[in-house]
Amino acid sequence: MSSLAELREGYERFDPCAYLRNNYLPPRADFSSEEFVVPWKLRCLADTFASGEIRGQTLIDVGSGPTIYQLLSACDHFEEIVATDYLAVNREELGRWVRGDPGAFDWSPFIQHVCKIEGRGEPWQDKERRLRDRLRRILPIDVHRPDPLGAPLDPPADALLSAFCLEAVSPDRAAFARALLHVGSLLRPGGHALLLGALGESFYLAGPARLPVVPLALADVRAALAGAGLALRELRSYEMPPALRTGVDDVHGVFFAHAQKPPQGH
Ligand code: SAM
Repeated sequence: MSSLAELREGYERFDPCAYLRNNYLPPRADFSSEEFVVPWKLRCLADTFASGEIRGQTLIDVGSGPTIYQLLSACDHFEEIVATDYLAVNREELGRWVRGDPGAFDWSPFIQHVCKIEGRGEPWQDKERRLRDRLRRILPIDVHRPDPLGAPLDPPADALLSAFCLEAVSPDRAAFARALLHVGSLLRPGGHALLLGALGESFYLAGPARLPVVPLALADVRAALAGAGLALRELRSYEMPPALRTGVDDVHGVFFAHAQKPPQGH
């Protein structure tokens, strides 16, 4: 088992480009079928936002890393998207994409796919522009602090999203549950929390970094949500097919959870 200090040291070697290559290029980012993991994740988010129930002023994404795919369906429903990450290298990578700098990762196949599954006939460039316009803040965060941003979010977020972060930065299940409690404090009463994450994973690679992950079962996700006072609305899971077990991690599957903070007075 790793300690928080060992985890922090490991993240100093995190290479955003290697991480993007390992997870967001083929074979994992193959849009020809929803049997592949990336289209599965995008489908969960598109379906959930399609209800129109999850909307408001601000959505905060916790542990964004160097990625924006998780914000593509969300960005139509919020005035502002706040991205966050512990590492400056990841915040810089996001900034490059927002500014459209040469050398930024090419998310256009993801944007095109999301426009297709959302089925509104929207030109993908419009969605790209909207997300760039709305992604105005990219903040440092540490989910192990009771105040993860160093100050309360004012006003608190109408929705919270976090993809593959909490289990990848926590030495054990108790730390995972505490981290969820900490980030849950950024959410207003009645707000929605959406979590994507790894099941049964013990490590992943990002260039020279080999990061330990707390292996979770669906029961751990349920227990942590309940412990953070978040009422589960939906829980889906995906089993990683053998063709996608490429050696960049030992993930067994993926979960998607939609939960809600009870409204004030409940
Ligand atoms: N959300 C992205 C995705 O879906 O691919 C990235 C997930 S990556 C597996 C985990 C992220 O957690 C990294 O970007 C890392 O920098 C970030 N991280 C590491 N320590 C953290 C901490 N203490 N608090 C918040 N985020 C942290």
